Amino acid sequence: MSNEFKEIFSKLSVIEKNEVTKNKIEKTLEIIPILLKRVSTQNVDVLAGILKQSVLPSICPETDDEIEQVFESINKNPNLLFEKEIQEKIQRFIEQRFQRDKQIVIQRTSDISKFVTLMGQYLNDAISSSGSGSKNVLSIKEKIQSIDLTNNGAIELSDLQTELINAASSIEEEMNQVSNKLQTGKTQVQELEEKVNSLEEELTKTKNESMKDHLTGLLTRRAYNEEIKKIESSYKRHNTQYAVVFFDLDFFKKVNDTHGHECGDVILSTFAKILEKNTRDHDIVGRYGGEEFVAIVHFNLNRELLQYLKRIKTIVTSNNFKYKEHEIKVTFSAGVAIRSDHESYDSAIQKADMLLYEAKENGRNQIKLEDGKTI
Ligand code: GH3
Ligand code: MG
Ligand code: MG
Repeated sequence: MSNEFKEIFSKLSVIEKNEVTKNKIEKTLEIIPILLKRVSTQNVDVLAGILKQSVLPSICPETDDEIEQVFESINKNPNLLFEKEIQEKIQRFIEQRFQRDKQIVIQRTSDISKFVTLMGQYLNDAISSSGSGSKNVLSIKEKIQSIDLTNNGAIELSDLQTELINAASSIEEEMNQVSNKLQTGKTQVQELEEKVNSLEEELTKTKNESMKDHLTGLLTRRAYNEEIKKIESSYKRHNTQYAVVFFDLDFFKKVNDTHGHECGDVILSTFAKILEKNTRDHDIVGRYGGEEFVAIVHFNLNRELLQYLKRIKTIVTSNNFKYKEHEIKVTFSAGVAIRSDHESYDSAIQKADMLLYEAKENGRNQIKLEDGKTI
């Protein structure tokens, strides 16, 4: 019995030692079949199962027929596991498995990446505000772009998920703030709108008021000058015939001096009412100055104009103006120019003024016309 034999024998299990003794084995080589029994069929089956699991792709849904076949034959003959050819096949399966899994991961993470990029863009557009949420999204976007999805991408994506959730929360808060601000802004705008409206109303009122003489309610001289522009353009287009009548109360200073300024006001306002009452819709009357009035009277026939002038004169002269217990006689003088007798409105009004002056010169209480007629 060699020393080598003794050494191997000493390392054997009790069962193996018994077998050696029983079979009277004395040579080292003869121990090998006993040692080979250590790799039991049962053990090899378990090992083959584990190996098979390890080569099957974890995510890839397809199973590989070749893997099935190889492991089926290993099942039948476990010793195949120790053959070089089979071992090389298993090696290849393992490599393939990693390759396939990686492929699936890349495919899936690229979907996530597309989604995240889209979301980043959407959020970017949605909140181009200076809020920190949008800044976070921008930095997350950059990170997403820099991730190497073919390598370890999953861990970084998971971190990004947390960051995205946080960013989304802060964006939500910012959005709320923005909508609150918008709400407040809206109220302020509404308030301003109301202010503008009431200012506009006031302005229109003021404008209307400035168009009307405060004492008589007739057109002011300014408003009259505006109105005459319209009448002039109508005259030029449709040849609507009209007369310019200049009225001036006679000795009005004396009325004021005798009865007081307030009385003078009442008379002015009464005279204005007489003119206004006898003015038709498209005619106008204005207070030209203190006790001077101007009327634009449209007419077709001279007769109509004369009727108008006579009517005014009759009303004024046949009635007394009343102020408190006083009954006051007031007369007026007037000059009348007919527009068609003149080149322009200006020349017509100048003529009317001149005729008024003539009426005054001529003793007052009279209406002077261009044709020399006096009413
Ligand atoms: P004449 O016949 O030449 O026109 O004489 P008159 O006194 O009417 O004319 P004058 O121009 O000398 O005086 C006009 C007067 O009209 C003087 C002014 O005190 C008075 N007057 C002007 N505007 C008003 C007003 O709004 N109210 C009152 N009460 N008087 C006014
Ligand atoms: Mg006067
Ligand atoms: Mg006068």
